Amino acid sequence: MDGLTTDTPAMDKLDLRDLSFEELERFVGDELGEKPYRARQLFRWLYRRNARAFAEMTDLKEELRERLEARCTIEPLPIAAVHRSADGTEKLQLALKDGGAVEAVLIPGDDRLTLCVSSQVGCAMGCAFCYTGSLKLSRNLTCAEIVDQYRQALHHLGGKAERISNVVLMGMGEPLANFDAVAKAVNLLMDDRGYDLSGRRVTVSTCGIAPRLKDLAEQTDASLAVSLNATTDTTRSLLMPINRKHPLAELMRALEAFPLARRKRILFEYVLLAGVNDTDEDARRLVKLARRISCKVNLIPYNPHGASDFARPSDERILAFQKILLDAGVTAFIRQSRGQDIYGACGMLGRGARRPDSTARIS
Ligand code: SAH
Ligand code: SF4
Repeated sequence: MDGLTTDTPAMDKLDLRDLSFEELERFVGDELGEKPYRARQLFRWLYRRNARAFAEMTDLKEELRERLEARCTIEPLPIAAVHRSADGTEKLQLALKDGGAVEAVLIPGDDRLTLCVSSQVGCAMGCAFCYTGSLKLSRNLTCAEIVDQYRQALHHLGGKAERISNVVLMGMGEPLANFDAVAKAVNLLMDDRGYDLSGRRVTVSTCGIAPRLKDLAEQTDASLAVSLNATTDTTRSLLMPINRKHPLAELMRALEAFPLARRKRILFEYVLLAGVNDTDEDARRLVKLARRISCKVNLIPYNPHGASDFARPSDERILAFQKILLDAGVTAFIRQSRGQDIYGACGMLGRGARRPDSTARIS
């Protein structure tokens, strides 16, 4: 007797999306007494066919489905609201069991649709320019809650996996401060028995927890983005408290040691703040840092949000900064700010609804 009945509250049930494939295989064999191929079937239903209930898994015998139902859960995080921006960006607000909410953002580009996923509720890193940082950390997300953002975004898009071209862990939170859940979730998304996303299509962004980069490289094939945001320790420590613990020299050494597949480059994110980190000297120092590794640079003009009083540089300054990088042979893009009107842009997550005409539904 396992003591679990169909009345077991969902919170006490084992969430199958918290298990790696190997853990699922062990559970199916040891706990359910089923053959290993059942684990592959379950995995495929979860991470290829995006099943939302055991009842959908029609090639599992009914008796097994009932046992799964009694002991396990795959219940999706309810979509509490969808906020749609004038530029096509959509922010999904997903309700968490403990009453909080987490946000995932779908960002359309010319030939791509990027899903920006959160890893924590709030963030403990306290970067001076970031709205999420001003919220402080409420808690880590579980692996299931991270993976479900992708599953629910797919569902929202009518189940068409090919529509999401890239997944970036650039939403709320610092992924490397919730390392185990993030690494497991990334590996679930990339597993070729499931959604089979390639390492080029999944990017983990960090504020620079240098010692964790090695773990990320060893345990996943995800691409790496680093929020650099400044070129001297003085400025970086003012903007990003993590720099006091892991200064630029240590971060750069860790990046130089980060193994890259051929053609795969590290992405440097650089928030441009007027009068703080946007001078010609900053750009020239950025060139020097960028030349040390195989990378490209994303310049992100500051998105204003009320919890900090930085300013976006003028368009002229932004272009002049980019030109210094380009002239020195450094690939540099200016990231269009998408979804600002729904608080869906970089560093603005955590505020929920903004627009009166946003649609809300429970799914
Ligand atoms: N914690 C991780 C993942 C979040 S990504 C990290 O910091 O990398 C969020 C990105 O948005 C980071 O590159 C951050 O530097 C940037 N950002 C934060 N606040 C911003 C703001 N107000 N305007 C523009 N970019 C911002
Ligand atoms: Fe956290 Fe990233 Fe925001 Fe810094 S920029 S507070 S690390 S979410």
